Amino acid sequence: MSSPSELPRHPVDLRSDTVTRPTPAMYERMMHAPIGDDGLDGDPSVHALEAEVATRLGKDAGLFVPSCTMANLLAVLAQTQRNEQVVLEGTAHMYTSERGAATFTNLFYLGVTGVDGAMDLDRLADALQAGGHKLKTSLVAMETTHNNAGGTVLPLAHMAAVHALARDRGAAVHLDGARLFNAAVALGVAPAEITQHTDTVSLCLSKGLSAPVGAVLAGPQKQIDVARTLRRMLGGTQRQSGIMAAAALEGVQHMGARLAEDHTRARRLSDGINALGGAITATVPQTNIVQVEVGATAMSNKEWVAALEAAGLKIRPWANTRLRCVTHRHTTDADITAALAAFSQVLAAPR
Ligand SMILES: *Cc1c(COP(=O)(O)O)cnc(C)c1O
Repeated sequence: MSSPSELPRHPVDLRSDTVTRPTPAMYERMMHAPIGDDGLDGDPSVHALEAEVATRLGKDAGLFVPSCTMANLLAVLAQTQRNEQVVLEGTAHMYTSERGAATFTNLFYLGVTGVDGAMDLDRLADALQAGGHKLKTSLVAMETTHNNAGGTVLPLAHMAAVHALARDRGAAVHLDGARLFNAAVALGVAPAEITQHTDTVSLCLSKGLSAPVGAVLAGPQKQIDVARTLRRMLGGTQRQSGIMAAAALEGVQHMGARLAEDHTRARRLSDGINALGGAITATVPQTNIVQVEVGATAMSNKEWVAALEAAGLKIRPWANTRLRCVTHRHTTDADITAALAAFSQVLAAPR
């Protein structure tokens, strides 16, 4: 009998790597996880996850939270005072997609222009000047891999420069590392080599790592202690959450290495789309995200989404004229072939 995670899935679903189901090993670990009450005297499996992530990312401590959005919000709240400023790249997920969270902070978020998700350093230096009408910047945030930039990886030298600049101006640094392990695989380094250039970091467990839910915020002990108090205030304290943490621990320990496969398949998808020779072009992926530009075709991106779905491929519209495809553990070589056939079919369809 096949396990729930191995059932065939049709149509091909490239909407996000969040669609990944727990692995059989995760179900096994969830079944046997030692659990407690994480709001009372603690849950041993949650503690194990927090310690493991902190160690792997070279930080003092970790905090298990229900989502990466909450991890980012806690990182902001734990390292700022109201009326201060958070500076981040202008298309960062924390800026474009977590505005609701930002409205709870009483802070001003300043977006800085960047290329491939990397902030322009001159503009960053300018943004970090205080005085006059300028606010004090207490936090600078980076993102790798960068979702809106198409899964791009920040160069380590860029991260080091941002960290140095921020430190020089007395600001802390946070890394939105929702897909940190994808970045590490792409760079061929351990995750801690990336996270040495940040004070706090959030890691999403429910994307490529395949855990059902959750994220970990890691950082210095003091900041994580503050974040733990804030987590309770936000209602983010969970009880027998060791069941979820056990699955996440499996993800953190064993699912990172296989992400390279997702990157290879994303590249095959991109190459295949660019070889169709039509009016659509695909970004050349550094990791598992491919953006497809459809602005030169007669159809809107939403019409493309509907037409591709009818042809057996689920993806998402991105910005005004793009589509986003994300490869993940359930994406097979045959799925890439099927996805390319769907693109080819829609492109050839008379309108
Ligand atoms: C998905 C994502 C998040 C939010 O993660 P959730 O766990 O869904 O809240 C944050 N940052 C980036 C870059 C993401 O891609």
